[in-house]
Amino acid sequence: MPDFDVIVVGGGPAGAACARSCVQASLRTLLVERGTLPRFKPCSGLVALEAERFVTRNFGPIPDSCRSSSGDYTGIALHFPSVPSLFLPGLCQAANVWRHTFDQFLVEHTGAEVRDGTLFEAVEEVPEGVAVRLRARASRGSRVTARYLVACDGGYSRVVRTIAPTVHDDTAWALVYQRYYRGRIELDAGPYHSLLTRDMGIYTWVTFKDDLIIVGCGCMRGDKIGGYHGRLVDYLRGRFGFEPKESVRDEGCLGNALGPTNRFFLGKGRVLVAGEAAGFLHLGGEGISGALETGWLAGQAVAGSIAAGDDALGRYQMSTRGERERVLDQWSFTRLFRSFSHPMALASAFGRYPWRHYPALVRDTYRFLDQQARGSGVGAAMVRNSWQRLLTRRRYEVGRVEADQAGS
Ligand SMILES: Cc1cc2nc3c(=O)[nH]c(=O)nc-3n(C[C@H](O)[C@H](O)[C@H](O)COP(=O)(O)OP(=O)(O)OC[C@H]3O[C@@H](n4cnc5c(N)ncnc54)[C@H](O)[C@@H]3O)c2cc1C
Repeated sequence: MPDFDVIVVGGGPAGAACARSCVQASLRTLLVERGTLPRFKPCSGLVALEAERFVTRNFGPIPDSCRSSSGDYTGIALHFPSVPSLFLPGLCQAANVWRHTFDQFLVEHTGAEVRDGTLFEAVEEVPEGVAVRLRARASRGSRVTARYLVACDGGYSRVVRTIAPTVHDDTAWALVYQRYYRGRIELDAGPYHSLLTRDMGIYTWVTFKDDLIIVGCGCMRGDKIGGYHGRLVDYLRGRFGFEPKESVRDEGCLGNALGPTNRFFLGKGRVLVAGEAAGFLHLGGEGISGALETGWLAGQAVAGSIAAGDDALGRYQMSTRGERERVLDQWSFTRLFRSFSHPMALASAFGRYPWRHYPALVRDTYRFLDQQARGSGVGAAMVRNSWQRLLTRRRYEVGRVEADQAGS
């Protein structure tokens, strides 16, 4: 008899949702988190409406203590360099939370045994399932067994790098960085501000939490993020009268481009992978909804396979198909301009501008997207997937690594 039915690695949204669904199915569930709760996570804390609905249904309403006192996100504001800024109310409308307390709230409501300050180190298959080596701070490693392990340990997943070291051979990585300031800026605290300006990184944002202004950007791994961020701060000074008085916090991390390039990694043998570790990340960097959804599906796959005595990974591959298509649609150029519910909402943004702004708008957008696409291979993969979806009018060939996973 293994020590647990399932071990979940990672105390983010995917791990919490997975643990919650396992506990609901009466599985003996252990959740391990390397940080000490509440642990910080680089994020804008935008909890999309569907994610909030999921949380309310399965964990209860988001407590006020997790929410930013600056208020919820009221929409998205797009700032192109050559045309006036545009506020799109309703789009990107979302709760604005602090991730450390939000994630702690989720984890504490899973009902699972939780061990924080505990690092996943290694996993091997054994007759009863998996044997996992864990290390709590300042202690020697321990060996814990379970029928299944679910990896929810984020974009730079140690579990994935352990069980499938070659998966990331061709992965493009984004480095994202944000800094929290006290100061002033001539921007409304309600919207999520997206700056579609070249040379300040592949993705650029300004958000607000409590009395803090958060300025962030991303670039491809290997580029120097400091230069982009410095240019962004200068740009904000010039265009929006940004006056930073004090910098109170820095954070950054790596994000994989598995999903945008249609290379989801869902697991191997008795290890399932959910959330950003598997590649579930939407355009604009929205990852909480996909993490909750796939963490939940992974838990259900494990519970179903234990009950039926069949293959959890096969179940999970089937059940995540819709979510994978949703991610690909988000990163599709051809659907980007059609979908009015898209977070970037370029189509509806274009529709709101007077005709005389169109040449500048098209030029700005092209210059921004062109910069995003170069160098990393991400743009080429997105174009390929986009045209396939548009021209063949059939579903994506999602998860072409599935065969390798099942066979390995
Ligand atoms: C700057 C930035 C802004 C973002 N803004 C938003 C936003 O506003 N809205 C949104 O929806 N998404 C946003 N995202 C994306 C979102 O943060 C992620 O997609 C989401 O958190 C993924 O959830 P997850 O549970 O898969 O992984 P994570 O939330 O990353 O959780 C993984 C957990 O695993 C733990 N862990 C890692 N390794 C180990 C190990 N070896 N042993 C034990 N534990 C381990 C980590 O400590 C972490 O707690 C943002 C991302 C970034 C970088």
